[in-house]
Amino acid sequence: MKIRELQEEIMALKREKNICILAHSYQTREIVEIADYTGDSFGLSIQASKTPQQTVILCGVRFMAETVKILSPEKTVYLSNPQAGCPMAEQVDREIVSAARVKYPGYTTVCYINTTAEVKTVCDVCVTSSSAVKIIERIPNENILFLPDKNLGSFLSRQLPQKNIVLLPGGCPTHVRAGRRDVERVRAEHPGALLLAHPECLPEVAEQADYVGSTTGIIEYAKTSRGKEFIIGTELSILQHLEFECPDKRFYPLSKDMVCHNMKLTTLWDVYRCMTGEAGEEIRLEEETRQKAKRCIDQMILLG
Ligand code: SF4
Repeated sequence: MKIRELQEEIMALKREKNICILAHSYQTREIVEIADYTGDSFGLSIQASKTPQQTVILCGVRFMAETVKILSPEKTVYLSNPQAGCPMAEQVDREIVSAARVKYPGYTTVCYINTTAEVKTVCDVCVTSSSAVKIIERIPNENILFLPDKNLGSFLSRQLPQKNIVLLPGGCPTHVRAGRRDVERVRAEHPGALLLAHPECLPEVAEQADYVGSTTGIIEYAKTSRGKEFIIGTELSILQHLEFECPDKRFYPLSKDMVCHNMKLTTLWDVYRCMTGEAGEEIRLEEETRQKAKRCIDQMILLG
């Protein structure tokens, strides 16, 4: 079956079964095309809570499907490919965070949204890459324990020198694939291009960027900027989506190695088979876990 035919089958099943499909921005173009909503992990959770459909299929990684379930417990939420996990989210567990809280008493524990539901149960506040600076600034406590992304954490430390931010080890294996040499090489090749980087990148990249922001922020910046050429310092799919959406602009990868293989595990066949009940995993969370994790997300909404 051709890609187009499979997409049409999925669209027909979606209507017949009244299913909402959510796709993270790092998904391939062919999956984005069949999705009802595309965006970052928190944006997708909010969309899921507003959508009238009772069944939601998430094309992304596990913590994203968990976040959808945390905010929409009444809905049936599926992860289309159960193998798709986020290596960064899996670097910390509840025990590691609990031990760090004992080591740093009196600190406010802030976790990135890229964490499991279990980890969120032992954190005080959750942040996204776009809301992190604002939220941490508004936390009255100057002592912050941040996890699990050291690069995002060190970006926050530079932005908020008034805060004492202790970082737990961890990071995104995709974003650390680009370094100073990549910046020098691509800048030399495209001297007029602006470098847009994700805060999960190494500090040696983020410090040289013209703009540092979330994937949504990078997309918005490129779309609305008067600039015509951009070096994209985040997962490669964003470059492909931007090429599609801004045909009059030019986009260059900071590194062609910035591919998240976990995000690319999900295929159109996974989505189709999830809809027919042959594959996919329904996300189930203990109600106590869900409520505690939701408290952490509620704090983010309150402070943000
Ligand atoms: S890009 Fe990094 S943070 Fe995002 S899902 Fe892949 S490994 Fe996780």
